[in-house]
Amino acid sequence: MNFRVLILGSNSAIPAFGRNPSAQYIQHFADAFLVDCGEGTQIRLSNFRVKRGKIRAIFISHLHGDHIFGLPGLLTTFSLSGFENEIHIIGPIGLKRFIETNLEISQSTLRFPIHIRELEENYSGIVYETSKLEVRTFPLNHRIATFGYCFQEKQKPLRLRGEHLEQYKLVPEKIHAIRSGADLQLPNGLVIPNSELTLPPHPSYSYAYCSDTLYDESLLNYIEHIDVLYHEATFGKDMKDLAKERYHSTSVEAAQIALLAKVKTLYLGHFSSRYQELEPLLEEAKTVFKDSHLAIEGQWIDIDQ
Ligand SMILES: [Zn+2]
Ligand SMILES: [Zn+2]
Repeated sequence: MNFRVLILGSNSAIPAFGRNPSAQYIQHFADAFLVDCGEGTQIRLSNFRVKRGKIRAIFISHLHGDHIFGLPGLLTTFSLSGFENEIHIIGPIGLKRFIETNLEISQSTLRFPIHIRELEENYSGIVYETSKLEVRTFPLNHRIATFGYCFQEKQKPLRLRGEHLEQYKLVPEKIHAIRSGADLQLPNGLVIPNSELTLPPHPSYSYAYCSDTLYDESLLNYIEHIDVLYHEATFGKDMKDLAKERYHSTSVEAAQIALLAKVKTLYLGHFSSRYQELEPLLEEAKTVFKDSHLAIEGQWIDIDQ
C-alpha cells in the first residue's frame, strides 16, 4: 500500500477511554504528512513506530487545543532528535503566533527550517503538492475558522505493456516518455503509436479530513466522489441539538454527508468523551451509509484499494 492513513487520535476535547485528541499520519509513497496535532501526538508516533523523518508537512484544521496542543512538543522533540528536513505547517491565522510564542517563551530553537502558511478565513485551494499528490483545503463550519483537507493523487503515468520492454530494448528516458503519452520512433523510422505500447494508468485515490464541523452540505463541493472520508461524529443522533449548538456533527449527519458526496468509505471520529462504547454511533451511521467505520487509534486505513 502506497497511500494510507494511521489514526493517532480520534477523541474530541478531553482524552478518555484510551482515546486521544485529534491527529493522523498520512503516508503517500516516500512522503508523509500529519493532519492535526493534538496533545501526545509525538508519543503515539513513537508507540506506533512511525517514520518521523518522512514528514514533509503538517496540516492544522483549527486552533482549538485538542488539535494543536501537541505541536510545540513534537517540533522540539524532532529538533532534539536530529530531524533535518524542512517542514511546512499550514493552518488558520494565529498558527504562526501560537508556534512562535511557544518556542520563544520556552526558549526553544529548532535545528530544522519550518515554513508556516496561514490561511485566510474561507480560503479554498491547493496548499501543498508533490510530484504525485495534491493537497487542497476548504472551509468547514465550526465556532472558529476551520479547514478541511483533501489529499488527491495526481493522474498516474500510463502502464507499459510488458512485452515491449524486451522487444524494443527501451532505455529509461524512452520509457518515461512513453508512459507520459509519447509514440515510439524506431531507428528505421517506423512509428509505433502510444496506444499499442501502453495500458491505462492505475486509478488515482483520494482522502479527505473534515473535523471539526457542523453538518454542512457546502462541503460536498470539495469532497464529491472521493474514496475515503474522515468526518467528525462527536455525538449520537439523539444529541442533534447539542451538536448544532457546539458546531459539531452527529453520527447520522456524518453519514448523510458521505451519502450525498457519494464517497466510497466513511470513517467516523472526534468522539465525545461521554461515549465509552462507540458501536451505537457506528450502527446509527450505517443506517444511512452502509460502508461506515470507526476510526480506531493505531489502525491503518488503506486508501489505495
Ligand atoms: Zn476538536
Ligand atoms: Zn474544535
